[in-house]
Amino acid sequence: MDFEIIDFHTHPFDDLNTNICNYRDHIPMDADGAVKYLKGMGISKICGSVVSWEAYGKADFNSIKLRNNKALELKEKYGDFYVPGFHIHPAFVKESLEEIERMHKEGITLIGELVPYWDGWNDYSCREFSEILDLADNYNMVVSFHTMTDDDQMDKMVKEHKNITFVAAHPGEKAKFLRHLERMRISENYHLDLSGGGLFRQGLLRYGIDKCGVEKFIFGSDYPTCNPAMFIGGVLLDSLLTDKEKEIIFSENAKRILKL
Ligand SMILES: [Zn+2]
Repeated sequence: MDFEIIDFHTHPFDDLNTNICNYRDHIPMDADGAVKYLKGMGISKICGSVVSWEAYGKADFNSIKLRNNKALELKEKYGDFYVPGFHIHPAFVKESLEEIERMHKEGITLIGELVPYWDGWNDYSCREFSEILDLADNYNMVVSFHTMTDDDQMDKMVKEHKNITFVAAHPGEKAKFLRHLERMRISENYHLDLSGGGLFRQGLLRYGIDKCGVEKFIFGSDYPTCNPAMFIGGVLLDSLLTDKEKEIIFSENAKRILKL
């Protein structure tokens, strides 16, 4: 069976600074080459925010804005292949609110992946971030976020914003994964993308589906830092899953939450 595959978790790039692959000199760099490479694996659409080595560890809204602009530029280059995500930052409430307004006017509905450690912040539960999320909620934006170490912070964020469609990134090891499943019980709008660590554990996805339902799990790889082929194989070849479940994970859930 052929599956449509949407990679919900990527970080598109257009130069060495925005390419976070550790072997970036050895992968296709230009837009055409990257699209050809991804389509060669069966991926027909990618989503996500631009990150940059230059910005690593710094709280700098100018850099955030440049990366958000770059996401819009890449959207021009990639067309329908790319659903841009943008960054916000709790140390810059006014600027973040303006950025949400600007992106809303551009028709952009995806925030993130937010990667706090990359942008020099660390608290999903702070008042400032909550204020920014209130506006994201008003515009029905989807919030994709990197799983941080403090689970209580993420619980609080989700409890306070039960209307927001959250997509947490990275299942992680068992204790972390179980906390994700608990948050799915806090809010029916809480989802998990399969990128990063976790999926290689035998039975993880079957367990999650049995406990919380297949509609909570979204295919993602973290390209270009991770190899999408590993994650495609982890779903496609898993005989613990039905074809219908694979179809829902590979594309239907992303289409539903992003209204594609
Ligand atoms: Zn991440």
